[in-house]
Amino acid sequence: MFDNFTKIYQPVLTGRENLNASEIQVCCPFHNDKNPSMSINTNSGLFHCFGCGVSGSAIGFVMRYHNIGYSDALKFTGENNNNVNIFPKKENKKKIENTIVDYSEYINKVLENSTFHDEFYKFYCKKLYELRGITLNTAITCLIGYNPDKGWIFPVYRYPDMQAVGYEVRKKDFTLFDDGNKCYKSREIPSCLSVVYQGWNNKRAYICEGFVDSYFLYQFKYEQNYKFYKGHNFQINEWIMTPTNGVHTIPNLMKELKLWQDFDEIIFCLDNDKAGNDTKAILAELPHEGKFKFFNQLKEGDDIEKWYKRIRKLN
Ligand SMILES: [Zn+2]
Repeated sequence: MFDNFTKIYQPVLTGRENLNASEIQVCCPFHNDKNPSMSINTNSGLFHCFGCGVSGSAIGFVMRYHNIGYSDALKFTGENNNNVNIFPKKENKKKIENTIVDYSEYINKVLENSTFHDEFYKFYCKKLYELRGITLNTAITCLIGYNPDKGWIFPVYRYPDMQAVGYEVRKKDFTLFDDGNKCYKSREIPSCLSVVYQGWNNKRAYICEGFVDSYFLYQFKYEQNYKFYKGHNFQINEWIMTPTNGVHTIPNLMKELKLWQDFDEIIFCLDNDKAGNDTKAILAELPHEGKFKFFNQLKEGDDIEKWYKRIRKLN
């Protein structure tokens, strides 16, 4: 399996690694690393540095290491090995019975025209940060794209097969706050669970209400260096997912996907409002083998974004 990724990670391999191991340790090229502090998962191709905290997919590594954009990184990996995907497909998982139109080709085309590392992208990331507080690191790790014609792109990667099935767009920088300005709604994609950040193993999955909440949860974990928060131990290697069709679809998705069979623990980060609390009550009634947990640090009326911003101010 690691054959798919050896060429990508060649620059950091010393030849002494046991490529049959599920994880290998190498020196991190993104900070001044003397002892190997970067782990590469040889099954998924995901990498994570325990020194500087940088992590991502194999394609993310290519983008960072060679300082190239998404489309160039795709070409780069394509030239080296045709089997390398943005995200590896998960085998032996239940498929969602679906009528989902396969948007993958379409989304890949849009992403190809999306810029990542160049000055243009950085300029818009700066705007995204100023307006909303999402950092460049979050944008790159979570593959948030910017397409000159479409606006900000939040790609939808369907769990469990990790197919790109569509995207959500928020137009331009100045209308980011206006939800009425989404020009292509993920709600138009049939209900599915979208993976915003793919974990290393299936220990824990977080389910947020929406895409932006998910990005802030990732950002919090990253900035806090995955430490304890009020008794809750955050790790960077955990999955973060969000439903495409709103909070009320979560119980059905859980029933459909039987997510409790895939993870040791599933933590719902629902808004502390009526819709969130109603959903929580329904979820509690579903079979879940004791694996459903609720993130209960949100004040009344809070969502993850508001919570994040309040916590960050306190720090
Ligand atoms: Zn590092």
